[in-house]
Amino acid sequence: MSESLLPKNIAELKAYSSAKSEKLTGTTWLNANESPYAKEFQLNLNNLNRYPEPQPENVIKAYCNYSQLNPEQVLMTRGADEGIELLMRTYCESGKDSIAIFTPTYGMYKVSADTQNIAINELDQSLLLDGEVCEITQSVGNAKLVFVCNPNNPTGSLTPVSKIAALAKSLEGKAIVVVDEAYIEFCPEQSAVSLLQDFDNIAVLRTLSKAFALAGLRTGFLLANADLLVAVRKVIAPYPVSTAVALIAEQALSSDSVTQMRRQVAILNGNKTRLKTLLSESSKVTQVLSGEGNFVTLQLRNKCDIDVAMRTGTIMRPFTLFGEDNWLRISIGNEQELEQVKLWLEQPE
Ligand SMILES: *Cc1c(COP(=O)(O)O)cnc(C)c1O
Repeated sequence: MSESLLPKNIAELKAYSSAKSEKLTGTTWLNANESPYAKEFQLNLNNLNRYPEPQPENVIKAYCNYSQLNPEQVLMTRGADEGIELLMRTYCESGKDSIAIFTPTYGMYKVSADTQNIAINELDQSLLLDGEVCEITQSVGNAKLVFVCNPNNPTGSLTPVSKIAALAKSLEGKAIVVVDEAYIEFCPEQSAVSLLQDFDNIAVLRTLSKAFALAGLRTGFLLANADLLVAVRKVIAPYPVSTAVALIAEQALSSDSVTQMRRQVAILNGNKTRLKTLLSESSKVTQVLSGEGNFVTLQLRNKCDIDVAMRTGTIMRPFTLFGEDNWLRISIGNEQELEQVKLWLEQPE
């Protein structure tokens, strides 16, 4: 009955599906680019009768310290995913405006746009990487938001900061370039944050879900100049961050924790190099996309090998890329998880 009340764009949505939502059973989880390092937190909560700070000052301060920005340039969100949604809700008019994305790329740009009835100008990732800036600008057309996932999930490719700057320059007054830096801790020298000094039409998305090992916390940050964020601050829910989340985020951003994160990143980047070597030597693998981030994406000779891995409890993320359904993204885990992948690769055909 209530179905007849649904707007068309909502009726046509498919529920987001992940290994978690499908309740797959496994022992080795390498499907969601999570960190293998779990950390313990102690909480002392005695004021939950009160609403939380809308933007917890200590967390904002700590993230400013980490990112070398001022408080008015930092907005704390419920994961980078909320940042994506907020930018669309703030800057795009439903049924009228559009965004541009470069596929293959992160799936939530499309999910957010579809739920809000915002059109998608789907361009090729290769246009972003190899195209001239004027060509890209032309293809972007009237899109209000241009999503550059950097490094790109799931291909690992990088768009140079100089190119992001040139793109922002040519789109000044027309569009916001949204740089999704969910994986930037794995290649921090590639960050576009320094461009905020010169551009008011750049927004950077960050998260604690990947290198900071806090996917369960649901915390991200939207970084941009004050003017861009003023409007977003009007749209965000009044109390988006719970008191408990704020306390944990604050601890996770202490200078000791940041040092620990960097140490873990170094280990994971090392494990990635080893995984890439294993993959390039494997007869099961026909192609490895080499890039940044805590994941490696590869093409299998035989798609059935994914099921073999699943049956032994190693969960990785299958993808259809470039029109072929035999791609797989493996998140970088710890030593023991890498060993599981190695055992799978060594299984006879
Ligand atoms: C994981 C991921 C996110 C989502 O981060 P959350 O903070 O967990 O919402 C955003 N963008 C990209 C590219 C990601 O891979």
